[in-house]
Amino acid sequence: MIDIKQILQGYGRLLSSDMKSAILAEERQKLCAECPFKTLANTCSKCGCYIPAKTRSDAAECPDGKWGAVKLNEL
Ligand code: SF4
Repeated sequence: MIDIKQILQGYGRLLSSDMKSAILAEERQKLCAECPFKTLANTCSKCGCYIPAKTRSDAAECPDGKWGAVKLNEL
């Protein structure tokens, strides 16, 4: 299910220089890069999200169970 709060958080962090979320996104995107649901447009065909933004949201989860939510302030 699409969560507007997660989407806004992800896009907000994508536009910021937040290092913790950048590192988190990089690790998640390594898993997305090998996933058959990743499209050439860098979206996830399983949930429809734009991967660079989705992976920046700590509350977001992979719809296929490949990575989960974390609490950035605890990293
Ligand atoms: S979010 Fe999950 S299902 Fe979607 S492309 Fe990334 S690893 Fe694959």
